[in-house]
Amino acid sequence: MSAGFLRPVSWFGLLLLFLYLGGSAPGQISAEKTPVLGVLLLDRDWNWTPRTQEDLSLPAQPGLILDWQDLFKPGVTRNLTIEQKARLLTNPRRLLASRHRAALLRPDRLLLISSDGETTGLQVDLASGARQTLQAPKANPTKAREALIRLALEGEGPEPVPVVANSESRMYHLPGARHLSPRIETRNLPDRSLAEQEGLRPCPICFPETNRLVGQDELERRLAQSAAGMIEDRYRVSHDQEERQRVSSVGERLMESNRFADQGYRFVVLDSDELNAFSVPTGPIYVTSGLLRALETPDELAAILAHELAHAENHHMRRQYDRSQWSGMLGSVLGYATRSFWGRAAGNFLADTFMKGYSRDFELEADRGAVLMTFAAGYRPEDFALTLTKLGELARQLGQGNGPDWFASHPSWEGRVRQVQEMVEKLTPLEDQVKTLEAHGDEELAGFLRRQAPSYLEDPRELHGFLEAYANLDLQPESSPPLPAEPLP
Ligand SMILES: [Zn+2]
Ligand SMILES: [Zn+2]
Repeated sequence: MSAGFLRPVSWFGLLLLFLYLGGSAPGQISAEKTPVLGVLLLDRDWNWTPRTQEDLSLPAQPGLILDWQDLFKPGVTRNLTIEQKARLLTNPRRLLASRHRAALLRPDRLLLISSDGETTGLQVDLASGARQTLQAPKANPTKAREALIRLALEGEGPEPVPVVANSESRMYHLPGARHLSPRIETRNLPDRSLAEQEGLRPCPICFPETNRLVGQDELERRLAQSAAGMIEDRYRVSHDQEERQRVSSVGERLMESNRFADQGYRFVVLDSDELNAFSVPTGPIYVTSGLLRALETPDELAAILAHELAHAENHHMRRQYDRSQWSGMLGSVLGYATRSFWGRAAGNFLADTFMKGYSRDFELEADRGAVLMTFAAGYRPEDFALTLTKLGELARQLGQGNGPDWFASHPSWEGRVRQVQEMVEKLTPLEDQVKTLEAHGDEELAGFLRRQAPSYLEDPRELHGFLEAYANLDLQPESSPPLPAEPLP
């Protein structure tokens, strides 16, 4: 279609034309059918600029878009300047997190290639969101790119991986997995990416690349076992349904909205009037019913659980052990230490840790992690400062050194509150922007930005520019009435 043809057509007419072209277009229009593949060349950090794309000088091929400006549907992006269009692509993963990705881009699929001489590419089906990693044989960058593009063009696109979702555990499995209980209610999903969009986590047995034991060594596993044993010896596990439900619903929301090295955390309520919470590496995460009674909102509970999750994710117990006198005595003998000797020594280390708490820097690191985790899950991180103030007052009443983690010798409560408030202040502009997206129903993109908060804290301008361009898109309403079918000649 030529510009001359389009000029007298009203915007509404153009919209209709788009809907028409998007449907099953008969006759001569099929010559303009959707290009198959768009290619973006990224830098080492998976960011894109018009400059990184310049390295993509390959011969044109039918069905292939190499010029980045041709990637956009002209109607949808007609209100944008070239700079604004470029801004949309700067972080392609951000754009792909938007539910409008298919409405915005012309090709069926997008191939992302990192320009640092890597021979892998990521292919994304824009309609379904299905992803596939492509691997080219080792070659110089130009040859590798050609090979990746050929692989993508010749293939059928990302193969959907059908999965079975367990709505109770919020985990997804391969269909036919024998470890699926027949008692539970399951749902079939046509692709794994849909399960991930819903926040379900992969079963580590069906998808071994997500196995929880990766990254945890034998020593940390044994420490975790001993610590969990000590805690469960000392306290009684609560069977109060209401309390357990309260903790697991907040815990699950934190898990769904954050990336964990280990997706298998369990949350346990301890039946005790003590006010406390603690964790062992890769879980469980423990919280006492006494502390639950002192917490007034889910946001406060989220802060406590997230702090404990951050200890676990950052391997603080293992790192504390490495710094302790026990590591010198035990670290090298783990291989031949008898179980009982190991048990006694580990017990001493853990008793020490429970009494004195983690070191100051670990506590502050766990607080920072907690602020970001609660923000990612849509809780109010500012409530964390309130919780800390509350617990600080309690600690003064009870005296310090009264048990593991929260009432052991932490850094000063005032210092912790200050650190949290500083982070919350930095997050506020981002929160405002994310809320605007949520108000417009684009929760996928909003969720992505929440999880990516650390990358936008230093310089929020880039994100602001992106959102401005995004707001200027002419996106079709979600429920456009279908056009009456044109009778064929
Ligand atoms: Zn499974
Ligand atoms: Zn702590």
